[in-house]
Amino acid sequence: MRELLADRIHDVADYPKPGVMFKDITPLLADPEAFSVLTDVLAGIAREHGATKIVGLEARGFILGAPTAVRAGVGFVPVRKSGKLPGATLTQAYDLEYGSARIEVHAEGLTEGDRVLVVDDVLATGGTAEASVQLLRRTGAEVVGLAVLLELGFLEGRGRVERALAGAPLDALLAV
Ligand code: AMP
Repeated sequence: MRELLADRIHDVADYPKPGVMFKDITPLLADPEAFSVLTDVLAGIAREHGATKIVGLEARGFILGAPTAVRAGVGFVPVRKSGKLPGATLTQAYDLEYGSARIEVHAEGLTEGDRVLVVDDVLATGGTAEASVQLLRRTGAEVVGLAVLLELGFLEGRGRVERALAGAPLDALLAV
């Protein structure tokens, strides 16, 4: 499984800016066998944790999270960049390398009693994942885990995300 997935993630040097090695998952998405294996594994994690909702992080977390939710038989809730959701939202600001960003979720998208698995493609510095966990907790839902396809271990994002998760598991299917 790991080899199949790893083979279909391609390195693109110096994208979107010099010095960044971008992990392109589009070859994996274009391969029905690999994409199916990936969503099966993620749905298995969702079931293991008793998730009642999958939350996908904009934008590639939507592509992985939505089919995972369908497979696991639970609902899907998007966490979006600010200004994209039409209803009443909760907002979380977080720091970027230069400046800051804001993410949002529909205030009524999750409620107390929901058990949330957060899904994204790549864990880099962990800033987005950390802010998402903080945001989602404010809905009253329980965050039961965070699953990513690939962890960039050298960026050391795991520590801050694990602190935010406060004991809930962080599953990375692949790590470099
Ligand atoms: P971070 O908040 O630094 O963990 O960044 C996480 C978000 O940025 C994820 O949603 C990824 O989709 C994207 N990202 C960061 N670094 C990379 C990379 N090297 N290759 C592909 N996506 C990345």
